[in-house]
Amino acid sequence: MSKPLGHAPTALVIFDCDGVLVDSEPIALRLLIETLAAAGLGLEPDEVHTRFLGRSLATTREILAADYGLTLGEDALAGMRHRLYAAFRAELRPIPHIAEALDALSCPFCVASSSQPERIELSLTVTGLWPRFAGRAFSATMVARGKPAPDLFLHAAASLGYTPGACLVVEDSPAGVTAARSAGMRVVAFTGGSHATSDCHRAGIAALEPDAIIDDMRDLPELAAG
Ligand SMILES: [Mg+2]
Repeated sequence: MSKPLGHAPTALVIFDCDGVLVDSEPIALRLLIETLAAAGLGLEPDEVHTRFLGRSLATTREILAADYGLTLGEDALAGMRHRLYAAFRAELRPIPHIAEALDALSCPFCVASSSQPERIELSLTVTGLWPRFAGRAFSATMVARGKPAPDLFLHAAASLGYTPGACLVVEDSPAGVTAARSAGMRVVAFTGGSHATSDCHRAGIAALEPDAIIDDMRDLPELAAG
């Protein structure tokens, strides 16, 4: 599905962070499963993947309370965040070929992530990508509603002076693809992350009909150029 998108050249590329710039989802999902288990909620990895991938911590807490009757206390959250950041420092790697893809883009780009600002900066710092995104990083904590609502992508575009129609979003999660669509932006789904290789995940992404699906970041610059 890697083909030109057939439109005017992209003016701004908006990257999701987790699973798009950095290969963080296997680490994040592992830590969430451990935290939930410690709180007495044993969930299968597939269910955690389906329900919480690409969601902010605030949204995750809402889902846990509404659908599982579990209230995660501040101590549990702080502990999970501490372990996650330690694991990121030790294990986190960039998505293969992402630096090469960024170098080849012919337009500006930014990052818009469900994660907190400190986590975005940590993720991109330990993977060597932060200098490219400093001053161009947007967090769901800056808007009222997280993905799948369009708020964050609209905020990022408006902050940098671009209309939604001039933006191309790169996302790995169903919630993020839906958010981009709701924002009136074109969206490329990236399925090259370690967490995104299952047929189930790929089918879920394809069902949302993104403008293109790629599993190699080296295919992005040509798509963005249209
Ligand atoms: Mg993501």
